[in-house]
Amino acid sequence: MTSYAFFNGKLMPLAEAKIGIMTHAFNYGTACFEGIRGNWNSDQEQIYLFRTQDHYQRLLNNCRLLKISIPYSIDELCQLTVELVEKNGYREDIYARPLAYKSSQVVGVRLHDLENDFLIFITPFGPYLDITNGIKCGVSSWRRIDDNMIPPRAKISGLYVNSALAKTEAVDNGFDEAIMLTHDGHVSEGSGENIFLIMDGKLVTPSPSDNILIGITRDTVIKLANWELGIETLERQIDRSELYIADECFLTGTAAHVTPVLEIDHRKVGNGEVGSITKRLQDLYFNIVQGRNKKYIDWCTPAYTKRVKA
Ligand code: PMP
Repeated sequence: MTSYAFFNGKLMPLAEAKIGIMTHAFNYGTACFEGIRGNWNSDQEQIYLFRTQDHYQRLLNNCRLLKISIPYSIDELCQLTVELVEKNGYREDIYARPLAYKSSQVVGVRLHDLENDFLIFITPFGPYLDITNGIKCGVSSWRRIDDNMIPPRAKISGLYVNSALAKTEAVDNGFDEAIMLTHDGHVSEGSGENIFLIMDGKLVTPSPSDNILIGITRDTVIKLANWELGIETLERQIDRSELYIADECFLTGTAAHVTPVLEIDHRKVGNGEVGSITKRLQDLYFNIVQGRNKKYIDWCTPAYTKRVKA
């Protein structure tokens, strides 16, 4: 089966979508990107794209930060994504990767006087972490990069070296995922996920000023906890030691969904099993992202416009 990408302003076979070795973004990391999940609903034979508009709003904001201009509105970007998913025709969970980048083939570190381009590719994508049995995390020796260095909120390609260092260190040390601290030692986030603790029946999560990416899954969970479970979320600075005394912990992200954390730095979180609030949020979330909850259907875009089962 041929896979397709959106590249140079048109849909084309993925195998033909190539960049030159001098491309600025490839050399200097001058790009920003998104990750959008398409969740396969086998009953309806449908892929539901989750909160696509919000992902593209974030991308366009981040383009401003990197001085990248792309000639598409949010609605056009959503439409392009639907067309691409439809063209690929996968019948499983997928991940769409839109990327806006400095495309000039030129040497010289800067953001100005460079051409910009935009692409999207799609890949089949199952669970990223063990969402059923939970994972083990280790606090990283690599600190989260600061807003005044490379803004973590901007999902900038080059920034992900920080995440890659932390992730590989964690895996080399026998953990599944890293938890990074800010330069002043407060909890920030995972290598590709936001983090939540549950303490005294409330959700606690780092605030945007703790150098996090302001996740769309994070926002979803905060809203569902409040609207569906009546649980409040505190966005505040979190000390490292709070990781060791929390009742429950989970990570959120487009790739990670809602992933329970059962151990941190060789200490059990709570009783070492998937926590009850985590489980309730997970169940709510999965139902919604697969387009099974009418109340939240506005968050889901059906990609297969022509083939949907009645
Ligand atoms: N933090 C980082 C560093 C990430 O890469 C991601 C994944 N996009 C997240 C958090 C979660 O963000 P979202 O829920 O929008 O995918």
